[in-house]
Amino acid sequence: MTTKKINFSSMVIHAGQEIEVATGAVIPPIYATSTFAQQKPGEHLGYEYSRSKNPTRLALEKMMAALEEGVGALAFASGMAAIAAVLDLLEPGDHIVVNEDIYGGTWRLFEKLKKYSSGLNFTYVDMCDLTQFEQALTSKTKMVWLETPSNPMMRIIDIEAITSLVRSRDIISVVDNTFATPYIQKPLNLGADIVVHSVTKFLNGHSDVIGGMVISKAKDLCDKLAFIQNSVGAILGPFDSFLVLRGIKTLALRMQKHCENTKIIADYLSQHPKVKTILYPGLQTHPQHEIAAKQMQNRFGGVLSFCIDADLSGIKKFLQETKLFTLAESLGGVESLIEHPNIMTHASLEKSHRDKLGITDSLVRISVGIEDANDLISDLDAAFKVIT
Ligand code: PLP
Repeated sequence: MTTKKINFSSMVIHAGQEIEVATGAVIPPIYATSTFAQQKPGEHLGYEYSRSKNPTRLALEKMMAALEEGVGALAFASGMAAIAAVLDLLEPGDHIVVNEDIYGGTWRLFEKLKKYSSGLNFTYVDMCDLTQFEQALTSKTKMVWLETPSNPMMRIIDIEAITSLVRSRDIISVVDNTFATPYIQKPLNLGADIVVHSVTKFLNGHSDVIGGMVISKAKDLCDKLAFIQNSVGAILGPFDSFLVLRGIKTLALRMQKHCENTKIIADYLSQHPKVKTILYPGLQTHPQHEIAAKQMQNRFGGVLSFCIDADLSGIKKFLQETKLFTLAESLGGVESLIEHPNIMTHASLEKSHRDKLGITDSLVRISVGIEDANDLISDLDAAFKVIT
């Protein structure tokens, strides 16, 4: 079907979804098959082997290409597998400039693995500072990698400003759009060459799948990435592809509620005497609020971090006391989660790196679900009471 003229909340339901010819099934079936019959050697109906292409996965990939406004998308077994595939575009000796405040697992892949296994060099900078960013570029820089909002410090990087600085220089720009999703921001339209996702988070939205996605607006990059995916083989299976597609159908509705609830909670935390700092781009006090308002279309997402005025034992008690906010890593599900980046999601970063970023013992990150906001506030309120 044509998806050219429909709006985002219609696209999440229809993009890339064809009525199945054999039975008329409205929803793309789970094609649980590893291989496909050929009429004659080399002659087939477009599918040979499910590592290369599978109809359920393809329906999801078409959906994601449409939502991010790219020309192609590839679904991977995890966000990390998607990220690793993008790095495979590079050659030993290539240099990558990365925003210093990234997901701990991405940092671990770059610093503890790819640096040695692929001979890549990484420089981490504060990309909110464009001068610092430009100074980090060298003649060997082949890729720029950024996350915005960043994790867990919720900094906002101006995607358009960064991509316009590298456009004339044969540098591939990559944006991890996991936190925002295309409901909020579309990096390809802001000049990025590649978007990656942990679909585990908001895209799937139900905390029951691990998956990743790469989308590009450049046909040559899509072809190279498809070659890498088929060669390495870290594909998303048909069952998980089906679940993610089902999750995406409510993406617009869910994101709207995540954003609404998070703003209500940010306002509540702003008034709380035990809260020292709140990191949420939707607050006017956030240093990059203006950029966020423009880049994120005044939708500021479902994640926020804040610092509590207590020692570590008090903060641990607080984290163990919430009932609706489950103490767990991850984010982006319909249920609210709470976590301690220093001990949990960002423990893989070097301590000196965490200290530099401000990932201290007092920092807590929440992923705000789509429950009733008053219930979420009551839950936090009760937990604050255990801190003396
Ligand atoms: N990118 C971001 C921003 C993440 O938060 C995560 C996981 O938390 C990943 C990538 C990795 O994704 P996955 O856990 O699906 O491998």
